Amino acid sequence: MFVQNKTRKGVCFLNVILISLVILGCHSMGKMKETSSSLPTSYATHRGPIVFYSDGPLPKETAMLAELEALQSQLEKELAFQKSSEPIWIYLFQDETRYQKFLKDHYPELPNRRAYFVQTGSRLTIYAQIGPSAGDDLRHEMTHATLHATWPMIPLWIDEGLAEFFELPPQLGGVHRQHLALLTHQLQQGTWQPNLERLMTKNELAEFGHLEYAEAWLWTHYLLRSTPKNREALQAALVRQTEITKSQDSAEAASYVVQISWSRLSESENFDQEALRHLHYLLQQ
Ligand SMILES: [Zn+2]
Repeated sequence: MFVQNKTRKGVCFLNVILISLVILGCHSMGKMKETSSSLPTSYATHRGPIVFYSDGPLPKETAMLAELEALQSQLEKELAFQKSSEPIWIYLFQDETRYQKFLKDHYPELPNRRAYFVQTGSRLTIYAQIGPSAGDDLRHEMTHATLHATWPMIPLWIDEGLAEFFELPPQLGGVHRQHLALLTHQLQQGTWQPNLERLMTKNELAEFGHLEYAEAWLWTHYLLRSTPKNREALQAALVRQTEITKSQDSAEAASYVVQISWSRLSESENFDQEALRHLHYLLQQ
């Protein structure tokens, strides 16, 4: 999960939560204590802008770093932008207890999660623990880190939507079965319908529950995979965000204009019904 401006404090839920109730990780923007004594720093390597630290070399480390670098390239291609060359620092803990102690010492206000993305000024850092879900966790947080290196004020719904989409192994094509199951269930119960305008009003992580993560994923999948026109609309919104950020004098003003700019997407006619049709289409695949 991620948090990008001073008004957003907290952490985010990742995808698997929906079914298993296991809370994964997200990203938070906070102030880290200066000490790094409890970080796993005895082993370091890098690949492109990714700087990787752990307690020792890992059996699949080379493949993992190559995959994360490929994820950045995929994001560049899908979103039609040139990623920042800003380094992204990954600390992978091989000891769960030590990871939890690090979080408790440095971020006592945050609940225990398997992974976090933390943005402190321009420094982009991912903390994660090794385990069976480390691949999904790192892809999720790497998506946040890559997006925030270019768009530090990217709205919460599309930030989390993209992270949920790209955390999946590439061969799944961004189809998040757990999110699909939750949305279908809510739809059948009559307790949910896609509504992008409503989702866009939720700018605080406290307002973002499992259903919001699932809907954010659906909108992202719809924008990226339904039609070239929709993908171009998403890319255009990101270009506008870059222009707004450069043109505004203050972060507050830029944040306000960014929100208005993105709301253009929800003004499209029948957009919500089209997303619903996209949901049914995915269910049939
Ligand atoms: Zn997240």
